[in-house]
Amino acid sequence: MKLNLNIEPLDTWLKPSHQPLVIAGPCSAETEEQLLATADLLAKTGKISVLRAGIWKPRTRPGEFEGIGSIGLEWLRKAKHATGLPITVEVATGKHVEEALAAGVDILWVGARSTVNPFTVQEIADALKGVDIPVMVKNPVNPDLSLWIGALERINNAGITKLAAISRGFSSYEKSAFRNEPMWELTIQLKTLCPQLPVICDPSHICGNRELIPYISQKALDLEMNGLMIESHIDPSVAWTDAKQQLTPSALSDLIDHLTIRQPQPVNPVVSDKLAELRKQIDKIDDLLIQKLAERMSIVEKIGEYKRDNDITILQLNRWDEIIKKRASFGKALKLDEEFTTKMLELIHAESIRRQTEIMNAKSPVAEK
Ligand code: PEP
Ligand code: MN
Repeated sequence: MKLNLNIEPLDTWLKPSHQPLVIAGPCSAETEEQLLATADLLAKTGKISVLRAGIWKPRTRPGEFEGIGSIGLEWLRKAKHATGLPITVEVATGKHVEEALAAGVDILWVGARSTVNPFTVQEIADALKGVDIPVMVKNPVNPDLSLWIGALERINNAGITKLAAISRGFSSYEKSAFRNEPMWELTIQLKTLCPQLPVICDPSHICGNRELIPYISQKALDLEMNGLMIESHIDPSVAWTDAKQQLTPSALSDLIDHLTIRQPQPVNPVVSDKLAELRKQIDKIDDLLIQKLAERMSIVEKIGEYKRDNDITILQLNRWDEIIKKRASFGKALKLDEEFTTKMLELIHAESIRRQTEIMNAKSPVAEK
């Protein structure tokens, strides 16, 4: 997969007033008072760079609060005027884009439920043609990197170069502590495909509760994400949407104070040397691992030939079960995570089966005789 986005660096369009970059505000604008009071306290912390609020809310079930609508733009404008903070809202249709632009919204974002739908994203992109405004694209609800990339490409193709991605977690079947699984590997893949693309993490929608937000925020920074979007409400206990995950402005300020900003490269030369030495050791071990894997595969191929020539099936479940159990408990004894060892073995096993299948399906020199 190739990803050629034409992107302007983040610091050319968004200069954080404080490190790290934090975009904050209520999940939903509910009343003028709620929005203005929240914005005022957030601005007073001096740690917030952009004010967010949802006014068109895509809700899973009808009948829930679906956002205050266009009137919220007026309130956001007042909040911007009162605090000096740039404002951002979610847009889900071409009409939303037009209204937000007319109201002087500084940054737009595409929500997770819109990113899943190329028609919706294209409609938003069409409304953005000829406009110079920053746009942030949340990952789709489902763990599909292509959909996320596709949405970024559609917006970029419309001429938007002030572009960022927002990592807000993915829907998953498995029960977990998170509302949406972080699935960091997908965000890392996106960053690898397009290193110049800024990525902001949304710990609020990943966590779904207040307690986990500090942990996910720190983790996002340690993964070199460029900022955080965190929901904040003057009184979360009475919030009309996402009550469990919103923080008061003062709790958010406290959270920001406790974040550690780590450098991608060590500044201290002693640390740098030590790191280089340890990395050398790792490189050596990785080389050995690859060599050993290649050796293992060539034995696997011999087994494949033997099975083929003696009409034995490729997969012997009992043997495989035994391997997993033995190796996982060996790994555990060496302090390796059992799930990690099992996953790794499964991957190796899948490759072994693929190789043996190839051999099985190739004509045997014996059979040809
Ligand atoms: C939101 O930011 O309030 C929101 C609706 O987020 P998401 O699109 O990630 O669900
Ligand atoms: Mn929300």
